[in-house]
Amino acid sequence: MLSFSERLQDAIELVQHAQRIVALTGAGISTESGIPDFRSPGSPWLEQPPVSYKAFISSAESRRQYWQSRRNLSAQVATARPNAAHYALAELERRGKLMGIITQNFDGLHHDAGNQPERIVELHGTSREAACTLCGARSSMPELQRRIDAGEVDPTCTECGGYLKSATILFGQRVPEPALARAKELATTCDLFLVVGSSLKVMPAASLPRLALGQDTPLIIINLLPTPLDDQADVVIHEKAGAVLPRIIESIPCS
Ligand code: NAD
Repeated sequence: MLSFSERLQDAIELVQHAQRIVALTGAGISTESGIPDFRSPGSPWLEQPPVSYKAFISSAESRRQYWQSRRNLSAQVATARPNAAHYALAELERRGKLMGIITQNFDGLHHDAGNQPERIVELHGTSREAACTLCGARSSMPELQRRIDAGEVDPTCTECGGYLKSATILFGQRVPEPALARAKELATTCDLFLVVGSSLKVMPAASLPRLALGQDTPLIIINLLPTPLDDQADVVIHEKAGAVLPRIIESIPCS
């Protein structure tokens, strides 16, 4: 069993040799920014069963539950700031090594950290925008939140009357095809795949490191708890991303 510093050194060497790194990030990269993840014990996201897309569309009571359960979490996401792990990935891009970030997160913190928007694939959408479930029109989430705070319990689109929700995917909704296609392209053309803060239990995101492994691409996993792919990864570090990623990225010479 390798020590932490040996595993860290192995990760540094893989990153130093790579030129086209792709990172898959999950809710765990944002816990150090104060946003709880989904599956760790005591998660507030699981206090109530999540509302499915089908229930949201068909039941006013489900839409009421959706907006009620989002209240505190939306405020947390809206005020969160990037942490050392987000900034380390932005630095990896500045140093010319990061081809793309595929994120399961909807919190927008990779954008805030300074990664270029065109390099970020938000597989599950963004909570910074609202979307109409009928015409698809996007609008400002803070504006919608003001309507809800002012007493609207079931907000609808001012253009077509469709139900409004956050521009994120609900259980039972598919990841949009263009985002998934781009993510697969990144996973199959990178020369190092880096997983940060994901339980690798949510599909299709969890299939992406498998695609990379299928091309014999090295895999690094940085996650507090074990994942189903640990035994196939080249390096596994069960530590906080904010403590580990900066140490890896600092070791790369500026290009
Ligand atoms: P997950 O909750 O299933 O797993 C998160 C993993 O991160 C856990 O295995 C945990 O051990 C690990 N972790 C927690 N803190 C960490 C840290 N500081 N450093 C390293 N690892 C840490 O998350 P997931 O795989 O992303 O799936 C959950 C889904 O819920 C996502 O698809 C996402 O859409 C959604 N979600 C998003 C946010 C967000 O945008 N910040 C927050 C909660 C949930």
